[in-house]
Amino acid sequence: MKIRVLGASGSDIPGYHLSSFLLNNKILFDAGGVTGSLSFKSQQKIEHIFITHAHLDHIRDIPFLADNIILSGKPKRINIYSTEEVIDDIKKHLLNSKIWPDFTVIPDVNNSILNLKVINEESEILIEGYRITAYRMNHTVMAVGFLVEKGKKSFFYTGDTGPAMETWRKLSNKRLDALIIEVSFPNKMKELAINTGHLTAELLFETLKIFNPKPKKIFVTHIKPLYKKTIERELKRVFDYKIKILQGGESIKI
Ligand SMILES: [Zn+2]
Ligand SMILES: [Zn+2]
Repeated sequence: MKIRVLGASGSDIPGYHLSSFLLNNKILFDAGGVTGSLSFKSQQKIEHIFITHAHLDHIRDIPFLADNIILSGKPKRINIYSTEEVIDDIKKHLLNSKIWPDFTVIPDVNNSILNLKVINEESEILIEGYRITAYRMNHTVMAVGFLVEKGKKSFFYTGDTGPAMETWRKLSNKRLDALIIEVSFPNKMKELAINTGHLTAELLFETLKIFNPKPKKIFVTHIKPLYKKTIERELKRVFDYKIKILQGGESIKI
């Protein structure tokens, strides 16, 4: 499995792109920073988008992607998957014919550029040979993370989350090849992190204690660039094994 990191930042400033992870060119996880980081040609290859939650930094580029798809002039649909509440929010607040044209009915309802699909938590679906399952995360709005499995390989992508022990307990015995997880704030901002449904390095460490076996690789995302140096230091101090902070533009193999 090859994941192209289009964006892994918790803030939108020059040189950083918002959360977007492209699996084998076709399946996108979150759509915060797609159209500004992926070529027009590569954007046309996206078939499926899994959205963790409806916060703008994870959905912002859905409208611009739809616009680029229709500009290509080729008939194409992109499926967008999430839980009912998230899908409803995207439809109601983003693709509502006011903020942006409603690409769920353009050019017509049966051939729309965007095809919104509701999935249920903890119910596996099969997409392009990948088994993908949504699990509830802990955020200020309805949010899920995704377990992705193919053959013997697997990874879990959290999107935004605070401590989510109920889900981690369910996954604690899985042999994860990789955990892609957020750390947004430095340790001294633990209270803010918990109140806003995010993690610090120490909270991540608490999360990882539950895993047996531990995920083989830990990739950290969603760092606020303002705190990057501090969080890097704190992650190094806390962990006794390798952890990598993801940067937009790189690719990882799982
Ligand atoms: Zn969020
Ligand atoms: Zn976010």
